[in-house]
Amino acid sequence: MRVYDILGIGFGPANIALAIALEEQEPGVSARFLEARTEPAWQPGMLLDGSDIQNNPSRDLVSLRNPRSHYSFLNYLFEEGRLIEHLNLPIEFPLRKEYARYITWVARQFDEVVDYGRRAEQVRLIQHDGEALYEVTTACGGVYLGRSLVVAPGRAPYLPEPFDSAASRRVFHLTDYLFRLEEFTTHGAPESVAVVGGSQSAAELTLDLARRFPRTRVRNLVRSYSLRLKDTSPFSEEGYFPAFTEYYHRATAEGRRRLDAYMHGTNYSSVDADVLKELYLLIYEQRLDGDQKVHVDGNRLVTAVREQGDKVVLEIEERNTALTESDTFDLVVVATGFRDLGPGPDQEPYPPVLEDIVGHFRTEESGELYVAADYALEPRDSGSDCPPVLLNGLCESSHGIGDAGSFSLLSLRAGTILDGLLKRGTFAAPAHAS
Ligand SMILES: Cc1cc2nc3c(=O)[nH]c(=O)nc-3n(C[C@H](O)[C@H](O)[C@H](O)COP(=O)(O)OP(=O)(O)OC[C@H]3O[C@@H](n4cnc5c(N)ncnc54)[C@H](O)[C@@H]3O)c2cc1C
Repeated sequence: MRVYDILGIGFGPANIALAIALEEQEPGVSARFLEARTEPAWQPGMLLDGSDIQNNPSRDLVSLRNPRSHYSFLNYLFEEGRLIEHLNLPIEFPLRKEYARYITWVARQFDEVVDYGRRAEQVRLIQHDGEALYEVTTACGGVYLGRSLVVAPGRAPYLPEPFDSAASRRVFHLTDYLFRLEEFTTHGAPESVAVVGGSQSAAELTLDLARRFPRTRVRNLVRSYSLRLKDTSPFSEEGYFPAFTEYYHRATAEGRRRLDAYMHGTNYSSVDADVLKELYLLIYEQRLDGDQKVHVDGNRLVTAVREQGDKVVLEIEERNTALTESDTFDLVVVATGFRDLGPGPDQEPYPPVLEDIVGHFRTEESGELYVAADYALEPRDSGSDCPPVLLNGLCESSHGIGDAGSFSLLSLRAGTILDGLLKRGTFAAPAHAS
């Protein structure tokens, strides 16, 4: 059975960036990536018409690490014959659809090292011919052996109470949006839809529903006062610099909390100005016409979810006056974000796929995994022969906002992870030709 130097779990942008770094810097190191999807796709449930990306397009899968790479967004446009047209677009950021195609274009060039339709389910530490290895078993029963592991499954969707126990398929996380619309609206527009949350995605979804179904009542339920403008100050944006990542990793627990509080508005519970303006104007015009269909209702907490035939009933509390109401919807989209590593109710102490090996690794006092500066887990016993495990794209709690699942530092992080693997791993192939 083949033993790979690196086994990657997930082949989204994080591990695609690693595959590029490997090819460009260390082609002698063998790697295999396991991807649950049957083909490459980036956030396919949220490729909304007209939506744009949130990152400078050159902070792509490679450019910060290697601006001369074949795999840059700019070169993708060039190879597709769209560069001059694209540069002429009257927009600040590319369409999300186009960026998704770029990611697929890159991913397809690595088909030889990826097995699609393979969801990693279990990881065990085993001895094989006298060597400590990871054995990864997939949902369809495949078994893979690796001298190291790079875990990049993306962050898990977070559904808070009471949505976490809602059985109805009509209540779903934003990552399933386009799929559930297809399931429930092919025979006609819904009468009413609720969007829960105050994030960029929640505002985009509210707009998208209003555009798709102009006669549908759309209600965006926001827990805080209302929709907030994203902090796009260039000074704050330095939180997405590598120097901030290093600084954050050195900070005390209290310091990290302070930095998190400052950086929160650059990525969470806040919306870009263009989306806010469009949504506000749309609601104003509907009011002017005496026909308001779209509502942004702040200070609202959903306390219960009930299925009633083909409908979903939400119990809603006005948080500041304690008034309560029931409202009925055809669909409820939960746009409440993703889980980080951590001890909180909206977090998880470790990626579930690592359940069987997590006991070998050091944890923080608060219980979540300790992650070193190069994204490696540290063995609990210093003399341990645990092969390296590195986390790729899951480390906001240890590395700060630049690791909040975004593209911003992804290419540089791939380089750091590759260096960490070479330093920590014992690979069969010589790491360096020279
Ligand atoms: C709607 C939306 C829009 C976004 N837009 C932006 C943006 O414009 N700019 C930005 O910087 N960030 C954006 N993000 C953040 C986004 O998370 C990152 O851009 C990027 O997708 C992170 O890459 P990743 O590889 O870490 O995770 P993912 O993209 O989630 O990829 C993880 C991959 O791992 C696979 N996988 C999961 N579990 C397993 C398993 N057990 N076995 C095998 N495979 C597995 C998944 O199928 C998936 O393909 C957006 C997020 C969302 C939800």
